[in-house]
Amino acid sequence: MERFTIKPEVYFKVGALEYLTTIDKEKALVITDPFMMQVGFTDQVLDVLRNTVSDLDVFSNIKPDPPIEVVADGIEQMLKIRPDVVIALGGGSTIDAAKSILWFYEKIVKRQEGQLEQKPLFIAIPTTSGTGSEVTSFAVITMGDQKIPLVSDELIPDVAIIDPTFVKTVPPQITADTAIDALTHAIEAFVSTQASDYTDALAEKAAKMIFDYLLTSYKEGNNIQAREKLHNASCLAGMAFTNAYLGINHSMAHALGGAFHIPHGRANAILLPFVIRYNAFCNDGTETRAARRYAELAKVLGLPATTICEGVNNLIAAVKVLLLETHTPTSLKELNIAKETFIQKLDSMSEAALNDRCTTTNPRQTNKEEIAVLFMVAFGE
Ligand code: NAD
Repeated sequence: MERFTIKPEVYFKVGALEYLTTIDKEKALVITDPFMMQVGFTDQVLDVLRNTVSDLDVFSNIKPDPPIEVVADGIEQMLKIRPDVVIALGGGSTIDAAKSILWFYEKIVKRQEGQLEQKPLFIAIPTTSGTGSEVTSFAVITMGDQKIPLVSDELIPDVAIIDPTFVKTVPPQITADTAIDALTHAIEAFVSTQASDYTDALAEKAAKMIFDYLLTSYKEGNNIQAREKLHNASCLAGMAFTNAYLGINHSMAHALGGAFHIPHGRANAILLPFVIRYNAFCNDGTETRAARRYAELAKVLGLPATTICEGVNNLIAAVKVLLLETHTPTSLKELNIAKETFIQKLDSMSEAALNDRCTTTNPRQTNKEEIAVLFMVAFGE
């Protein structure tokens, strides 16, 4: 028996923020980052909330790749305020931090008081088009040098607001990094060992929309139609991978992010062509399931794929073109990482990637040695 589920109610299009006028709550906590305060997005949300909620608080200390210490501060704030609605406004880091804060908060209250009378309504408003965190059962937090993915259905928000107004300010390079993160979600979900007809439909559509709208969003940040499509694509990719899970592209990106603090999307983007080639393994003539799946996706994307190998190679080429057009580095050495430092951390990164939850659904069985070789190939000579 297999299972497919989508939990959040999704409100989308320009103006979707109006959903907030329909909630009947008393105390709200908005969890966000300093940039959202600075550009006025937090005020925009508070202004709408004022129509219905009397007591409003803001926790605005979220940092990228949220450290456990920030999550602990957020839990303290939650315990003081005891809100009945929590709104996460920001990129994946903010939404993941809010998920973790709520999750630990609920456990603490239940332990201290025996029960939590009312679980707060949890609303996520993504301001990047990338992680899909607003609909997923994942949250990634950072402990020291390690990014730890938490996985539980309890982490999934109740409501997602996909309003492209909030992504118009994303600068070109973050637009590219985050969208290629979403593309990686779609591709990894499509080739995952847990892929199904349901997740394929979402992954195919998401990948197609990203190829169709990323470059326009990158070049014309104010193009609201392109932004809307990319924002929807990121959410669809999130729905795909929260059900089909991911693969070693993400495992390796988590390890790299922990060791070198590389933006998550950028790490995924650099690894993607190398991971597709490794998983497909079509150069020795072996026709793997993964190779067939990549070629199938290439066909869906309108790329020539008369043979499996041609499809895989064209998918890799199409990803590389996206990287080049968006001035995204194509090897890890371009990130100014010293080779000696990279080699020093290679063993621990490979170990972390192998043990990462995402590795279990990778289409090719792997081991620490092969992951280390793949890291070195992606580093470049
Ligand atoms: P992010 O949230 O870390 O934000 C990156 C930068 O973009 C920050 O400086 C932020 O202030 C800025 N930013 C955000 N919105 C902006 C806007 N509208 N305009 C201008 N700047 C803006 O980036 P992200 O890629 O969205 O999230 C990455 C995190 O999410 C990583 O920790 C990653 O591991 C995690 N992640 C989670 C999931 C999941 O399912 N939960 C999936 C993939 C990745």
